[in-house]
Amino acid sequence: MSSLFRYSRWASQFKKSPPIFTSFSTATTDAQPNRPSPPPIRVGLTDSVGRAVFATRRIGAGELIHTAKPIVAHPSLPSLHKVCYFCLRKLPSQKPHSEAHKNVAFCSEHCKDQSKNFYEIEKKADWSRFNEYCRLQGLKYPLLVKRFACQVMSGVVSADILDILQPANLTSEMVSMMEKEFCLLRSTFQETDIKGEQMAFLTKEWYTGVLARMRINAFRVELPGGSYEDLLSSAAASIEAEIAVGNAVYMLPSFYNHDCDPNAHILWMENVDARLKTLRNIEAGEELRICYIDASMNYKTRQTVLYEGFGFLCNCPRCLSND
Ligand SMILES: [Zn+2]
Ligand SMILES: [Zn+2]
Repeated sequence: MSSLFRYSRWASQFKKSPPIFTSFSTATTDAQPNRPSPPPIRVGLTDSVGRAVFATRRIGAGELIHTAKPIVAHPSLPSLHKVCYFCLRKLPSQKPHSEAHKNVAFCSEHCKDQSKNFYEIEKKADWSRFNEYCRLQGLKYPLLVKRFACQVMSGVVSADILDILQPANLTSEMVSMMEKEFCLLRSTFQETDIKGEQMAFLTKEWYTGVLARMRINAFRVELPGGSYEDLLSSAAASIEAEIAVGNAVYMLPSFYNHDCDPNAHILWMENVDARLKTLRNIEAGEELRICYIDASMNYKTRQTVLYEGFGFLCNCPRCLSND
């Protein structure tokens, strides 16, 4: 397997300070909370790096810039039975899996209800072969594409909603490696009673286009432990600790550019809903940047990982100083 598939965006390692809760509601799953004011950012175009996110006012260190719900998310295969199939919230370990959902479970009636926009379609098919293939090959993005395809067939999202995101450059070798997973995905849908026109969008071109975008825009969702004490101990634990529960693609967070010494970071508290926070004081007009990779890596490793995983050589101030 190509190392190119190993890297999705990495949550920042800035976990030393305790979480700062602001007036934003933490009950992110409710449809009608008190509407927060618009986030203090704007997305603009730059000559050098394309799209970028800028602060529209001064933002204090540790402030919540905004939250974001995913366009599509999926648990990692090792977490499949340990987290909510919709929101990736950790499930109580003793809880028996729901009879109604044979293999997967939801953390709440709300998530069960929200999942209808993909699960009604997904459960028409037998995904064991597809999942097994992904497991054996160590693939995570095809699972996101599967869920996305189900959402499109349900009519809740349009098949081209991800087109706005920047795609990775795929070599012909990478595209041919996708042949098998694509054929498995399509044949699994074709074995159901889903109508042909409902899956007309599901072409090889669509698949590779979506995967090219997921490859550089998907975030690895890392949840801290269940308690504040766990959160503190995870800060001290090895950064190798596997706390990723799944992968997700967001719209706004994808517009943040990378910096090896970032002034903002993305983190998750309880489920797949992301929080973008500042790491230091930000002036109005300043660009907000996050770190796509593990910032503790050395200069050479960072350059390699960024180039292989995201297709660019970093010219941030930290890299320019050879740090
Ligand atoms: Zn849930
Ligand atoms: Zn850099």
